[in-house]
Amino acid sequence: MTTSGPFEALALIDHHVHGVVTADLDRAGLELLMTEASGPPAAGTTMFDSQLGFAIRRWCAPVLDLEPSAPAEDYLRRRVELGTAEVNRRLLTAAGVAQWLIDTGYLTDEITTPEQMAMASGTPTGQIVRLEAVAEKVARAGTSAAAWATTFAEELAIEAASTGAVGFKSIVAYRFGFDFEPIRPGSADVATAAGRLMRELETDPGARVADQVLLRHLIWTAIDIGKPVQFHVGFGDTDVRLHRSNPTLLTDFLIATESAGTPVMLLHCYPYHREAGYLAHVFSHVYMDVGAILNHVGARSAAVLAEALELTPFGKMLYSSDAFGLPELHYLGAIGFRRDIARVTGQFVADGAWGEADAERVAALIGSANANRVYRLDQP
Ligand SMILES: [Zn+2]
Repeated sequence: MTTSGPFEALALIDHHVHGVVTADLDRAGLELLMTEASGPPAAGTTMFDSQLGFAIRRWCAPVLDLEPSAPAEDYLRRRVELGTAEVNRRLLTAAGVAQWLIDTGYLTDEITTPEQMAMASGTPTGQIVRLEAVAEKVARAGTSAAAWATTFAEELAIEAASTGAVGFKSIVAYRFGFDFEPIRPGSADVATAAGRLMRELETDPGARVADQVLLRHLIWTAIDIGKPVQFHVGFGDTDVRLHRSNPTLLTDFLIATESAGTPVMLLHCYPYHREAGYLAHVFSHVYMDVGAILNHVGARSAAVLAEALELTPFGKMLYSSDAFGLPELHYLGAIGFRRDIARVTGQFVADGAWGEADAERVAALIGSANANRVYRLDQP
């Protein structure tokens, strides 16, 4: 199997991605970015002994002038030899992505800014504003409890305008779960909850928006704006309670928001990618992706993509890598998706179930056309 294939040059818009680390990484630092675990691997084990570890050695090693599947020690040595900036440049450029839509709300001090990403990759960027980050900024800056909701809406508009944001992101799955009350919270409840948060911040500067009333308020404010709202779904770090991030728990919320028409983008979704596909199937405003997980399941990625393609309408799936920190993840996401979509649709064609032109059209929809349409990227 090589990287060449019918979709080798498929245009990709990565609709959910983060920057890369610019500091030099030792082995421990690199391994920490290969996992959603919060600490080092168990004694006597290594993250290189995982689907992702094998994929890095198999596919990224040649970009760093090594043989495919070079030993981890050689790979780490070569990374140091080339230096982080050169490794970033090589892998980000080789990904050949047409545009990154960057979530700027997570550990921003440790990774490249959108401007730096554009420089290192030669690829234009768009931005996604994280609702909770703006809400916490407003609460920290201090305002009255009664004015918090208005100040948040104003700050969100300022942030969206200054960054040219094409969408918003909610991490309610991390902060509470999808079993929140689906309806818009009342303004008195929001003011009470905002007051509580600001008092909490006085004693604990690290306090976060975790009250479901506030989280719901953020989501409904974004729904009112009308730009796509992304939701983290499923697989993630230990902040998430996986069973409460099953997207079918959003069903009543999706019923309540369908008439608004604001696109709801379900990100990652694994192991609930079939549930997400069902929701994209029955709700006109729901879209999904299997970003992040295709890198982590490595040699099984085509199987997961095929499962996601069972029920998800082809105009409702998008490409993303959810790469964070390591340019290996940006690169593997892009070349892996091109390889997998060719493999999965190629099998449908070989089975006589699909025509070749339809396979090409579906790859183009998921690769970039759906993102272009839903985020209105073509419009100035
Ligand atoms: Zn992400």
